[in-house]
Parts: sequence; C-alpha cells; structure tokens
Amino acid sequence: MDVELNTTWVEIDLGAIRSNIQQMNQFTNTAVMAVVKANAYGHGLVEVAKAAQQAQSPWLGVARVEEGVLLREAGVTGRILVLGYTAPEQVRLAAAQGIDLTVYDPDVVKAYVSQLSDGDRLNVQAKVDVGMGRLGVFPQDALGFVEFLRGQPRINLAGIFTHFPTADEPARNLTLPQFARFERVLEQLEARQIRPPLAHAANSAAAINYPETRLDLVRTGIAIYGLHPSPETRLPQGFRPALSWKARLTSLKTLPKGSGVSYNYRYITPRDMRIGAVAVGYADGLRRRLDNYMLVGGRRVPVLGSVCMDQCMVSLEDLPGARIGEEVVLIGKQGDETITAEELGEAWGTLNYEVVCGLATRSPRIYINRE
Ligand SMILES: *Cc1c(COP(=O)(O)O)cnc(C)c1O
Repeated sequence: MDVELNTTWVEIDLGAIRSNIQQMNQFTNTAVMAVVKANAYGHGLVEVAKAAQQAQSPWLGVARVEEGVLLREAGVTGRILVLGYTAPEQVRLAAAQGIDLTVYDPDVVKAYVSQLSDGDRLNVQAKVDVGMGRLGVFPQDALGFVEFLRGQPRINLAGIFTHFPTADEPARNLTLPQFARFERVLEQLEARQIRPPLAHAANSAAAINYPETRLDLVRTGIAIYGLHPSPETRLPQGFRPALSWKARLTSLKTLPKGSGVSYNYRYITPRDMRIGAVAVGYADGLRRRLDNYMLVGGRRVPVLGSVCMDQCMVSLEDLPGARIGEEVVLIGKQGDETITAEELGEAWGTLNYEVVCGLATRSPRIYINRE
C-alpha cells in the first residue's frame, strides 16, 4: 500500500521485530515463542508471524483458535499454541490445522475427546495455575491431571506451562516461590517419567528478570515489539520499537481570539491562533482526553479541544512552515523528538500494551524493513 494515500496509518518495522526476536533468543539462550495474539499487539498478525519465522522462532502464541486458523490460512507452518480457552466445537479444526490447545479442566477435555474422530490427533498443553488466579489446575492437582490426560484417546500431551502475575515488578517474593511450585510439579512428573516434551513459564518480564524460569521456551510478546514490559522491567540494550503511529495535517487556518475549537468548545483561543486539523480521532485509538499532544515539524504540539471520531485539532503556533498533507507523529520519532508507547500509556493512565492493542484495525498497517 502506498503510504502517500493514507491520512492515518500505523508503520511497522518488521526488521525491528526480527532483530528483537534474535536478541531475545541470544539474551535468554532459549527458544522463543513469538506471542502474536490480539493482531500481534496491534502490529498485524500474519506479517509479524512470518517475520518471527524468518527470525527462527519455532513457536507462535495466540489467544484464540481463530487466530491460529488465520495463520494457517496465510500459509504459516510453525507450531502454534492457543493460550486461552477453546470451545469443544472447534477442536476438530484445531486438530486438522495442527494447532495446540491449552487444557486445564477434565470435563472440557472429555468434551474435546468426544468431538474427535478415531483418526484425529489433538495436541494439548496442560496449564498450571501457580498464582495468577486465571486458567490452570492448581499445582497439587497437576500430577493427577497429567495422568488423566495421558489416559485420553486422540489426545497428545505436548507440553505443560504456567504464567506469572507479577514477574514485571521489582519485588521477587512472589515469583520465586510460584516458580518453585511449578518446578516441584515438573520434578514429580520427571520422577514418574511422564514429563511432557515441553515445559515453559516465562513471559517477557520473567525471561528478563528470572533466568531460571526460561526452561524450554520463553513466551515473549511485548519484548519482540521492542516495548518495555513495565517501568521497572526494561528491555536489555539493543531492542528497538517496531511501531510508529502517524497521521496527516488536513487543514490550516488562523482562528481569531475567542474562537471555540471542536465539539462543546472545551478550548477557546486566547489570542489569534494558527490551528491545524489532523486526520486521527478516537475511532483510531486516540483517547478522547484534553491533554493529548503529537509531533508536527519535529516539535511537540498540544491537541486543542475535544478529540472527534476521525479528527482532532492541534496548535500550530511557532510552526509557520506547516503544510497540508505533512506527517504528524503520535507514536514514534520525528526530527529530534520521540513519543513512545510507554509515554503515551503513562499519559493515559494505562500500559504500553493497551496503547498498541487499542490502535484501530481501520488504520492501515504499512510494513517497512530496516536493518
Ligand atoms: C500474553 C501472554 C504472554 C506474553 O506476555 P508478554 O508480557 O507480552 O511477554 C505469555 N504467556 C501468556 C499465557 C500470555 O497470555
């Protein structure tokens, strides 16, 4: 797609994603599952999955089976794990497409088995809840669950895994005992020689903060996009953000002193003011707040008045050179200025994760490849 035709778009550097995956692989000395759920954290499911495969990532993680099916339809051949729940009605599809499912409930597994035909083979991975309070059997029930799974026809137990709730925080008093609980489960299974071929625990934060949790595979999402897991858990040197969010100036004019700007006149010009319109609004993922800013001509400029659905207005005072059609940056670099997803997350009272996942699918993704 020709970037010149777009008035708002998201630019993704697949070179950065490949490089971040390689960095993660070298930094952890462990195989990487590239987590591409939620449209690859807004970066584009299929393109990121293909880049991950080019970077030798053997596994892809998705939240829902539909995402895995989209990958298969796009010709993606690597191994895929659905991290969330899958309805029994979907398991024949998963088996046919060679997609691994997460399991943690015996009744659901029985429903899976009853959906499968004799020739079908479904790969499952058992989830253990060491303290997330979300999906998974408790550690004390894990051995029994694994034995149950091993007794089910048409089911192949491909892996066992867990997930940490606070691995991105500086305090280590929760994650270490939680990991010890998972290790004890693995020891029990090893003692009976029924440990599944794959055991994994670490997300990006744990892969960085807790080397001992890396096991057979690190399930990294946020890090492969070049985004920091949290304010306290920063990426090592060498990772770089892949995503920029851009729009164009679509109007320039001088409003006289005392003019209201945008719906409900939340801003009144205190003097004659040069004002620009920008083709980005809340339907693109820009929050409807009064304190937004963006980069125009390499400078930070405030958004004035309410954000509209498809547009907003910015101050162009001190930017006499501004022209209709020029590029405005909401996330990324322009001249010497940068706005990061982390900074925007903080301004919006949320995480960088939610900022990039919240970018609307209507904004085209434009792919570039920087070395
Ligand atoms: C989303 C997810 C991940 C990836 O987490 P990041 O913090 O983005 O690295 C790993 N494991 C599970 C179970 C997840 O749901």
